Parts: sequence; C-alpha cells; structure tokens
Amino acid sequence: MEAQECLKILRDIKDVAFATADEKGKPHVRIIDVMLVEDEKLYFCTARGKDFYRQLTENPCTEIAGLNREYQMVRLSGRVSQLTDQKKWIDRIFEENPSMNDVYPGESRYILEPFCIEDGQIEFFDLGKSPIYRESFAIGKADMPRKGFEITDACIGCGRCGRDCPQQCISEGAPFVIGQEHCLHCGLCYENCPVQAIIKRGE
Ligand code: SF4
Ligand code: SF4
Repeated sequence: MEAQECLKILRDIKDVAFATADEKGKPHVRIIDVMLVEDEKLYFCTARGKDFYRQLTENPCTEIAGLNREYQMVRLSGRVSQLTDQKKWIDRIFEENPSMNDVYPGESRYILEPFCIEDGQIEFFDLGKSPIYRESFAIGKADMPRKGFEITDACIGCGRCGRDCPQQCISEGAPFVIGQEHCLHCGLCYENCPVQAIIKRGE
C-alpha cells in the first residue's frame, strides 16, 4: 500500500465526508466529491456561497473519511490550499467529472473554487481482514504523528496483554511486542498491564 493508492480509494469512493470547524469550533461535516487525485495530491471544489467555502478560507484544514465496499477506510487529514488559477482548475475538474455539467451548466461553473490537499496525514484501515490491517503515511511536508501503544523494557513477560488482545497481535519476547499493523488502538493492553509497561506512542 502507498499513499497514492489510498488517495485512489478516496477517488473511487468519490463521495466522501469532509469535516471542518466553524469560527466557534463547532464541527461540520458534509459529503463532497473527490474530483481528482494525482502526484499524492487530492483536489476538490466548492461554491463561494457555501459555509464550507467560508470555513475553509478562515481555517484552511479539513479531515476526509471514506469507506469502500471492501470495508477499507481511508482518512486524510491535512492543510487545504485554494488554487490560484481558478478557471483552469475548474475546467480540468469538469473534464475529469463530466456529470458536474448537469449541476453547474455553462458559465455557472465559475462560482466554484478549486482546492488541493498536498500536505497531510493518511490513515488506511482494512476492517475486511482478520486481523485488521492498518498503515499510515505522511504526504507533502507533513509529519506523521505516532499513534497507538508500545511495550517498554518494564515488561515482566506475564503474557496478560497477549491473552487479552482482541486481535491477537502481541508477540512474546523480552519485552513483548505489539504488531502495529494489526493493532486496533483500543487500549485494553495499556489499561490491564500489571506493571504499566505499555505506553501511548507519541506522548
Ligand atoms: S501485560 Fe505488561 S508485563 Fe505482561 S507481558 Fe504484557 S506488557 Fe509485559
Ligand atoms: S491496543 Fe488493543 S488491539 Fe492494540 S495491542 Fe493493545 S489490546 Fe491489542
């Protein structure tokens, strides 16, 4: 799996949830078309009259999530850039998505503004597999924060975490090891370790 493949999943789903926050921090989510994906960038557009447009211009970041029929979830969280060559990008988006002509016929298309996400974090989560499979990627200039849990040298090898783990993704060792690619991030092992040998990553 690569970042571009994850973006392609979002493009194939096409209608995905885009979240923003308004000026009071209140969350808003709506379904928006992914118009184009290329070179690890995702493109979309919205009309200048919409609250979505105002929220994007006041606080240029968004989080997107989509789930396909195979129960593969992709989440992209990133910084949004409004593209300067508006007419060129809107024409390109309409070429790639001809059904847009039914919604915005003729010159009315230019009420739309094009946006791109090029710096961000992608999380891929495959719930169709057992154990589950996850992977994450940074795109552009963004960093990828470490999430989930890890086992430290304080582990005494009691084996409780391995027995409790719902995905059976903890291997014996000194210390025991979490298979990060199969971890749900549920925290059960973290809560129950008798010697607090399990820590949250990135804290
Ligand atoms: S529960 Fe804690 S001490 Fe026991 S094996 Fe797991 S990490 Fe090690
Ligand atoms: S966080 Fe949950 S899924 Fe991940 S290793 Fe711990 S118990 Fe298993």
